[in-house]
Amino acid sequence: MTQDAFEKVINSIEKVRKPGEKPEDDLYSTDKFICDLCQGIREKEEITQCGFCGRWVCKDNDRSAKGKESYCWNEELKACESCSGLILLAQKGDLKEENTLREEKDTEKNSKEDDKDE
Ligand SMILES: [Zn+2]
Ligand SMILES: [Zn+2]
Repeated sequence: MTQDAFEKVINSIEKVRKPGEKPEDDLYSTDKFICDLCQGIREKEEITQCGFCGRWVCKDNDRSAKGKESYCWNEELKACESCSGLILLAQKGDLKEENTLREEKDTEKNSKEDDKDE
């Protein structure tokens, strides 16, 4: 697959937050933050911003100690779990998913226009 196709997938990722935008504070403790994917409350050290979509997601800081707990950060791809799925598809050269996403966006747009008509 070409770099161009890969970039298309990356560009199709919805930017949820701007780079450098702060993560969501936990309501009850100012030093804790909320993961944008699983809504879990995490320590400052346990949350990281995805460079593709801007989401703040929890990451596995100490895999050996925490075992099977699941995290929303894919260290291998340097992306959140939401983006890593798209990136993996892009790397495989399977761009069907990208087309599906585009169709979904179009459908969304159309349904909004339908609402207006009613
Ligand atoms: Zn999470
Ligand atoms: Zn992401």
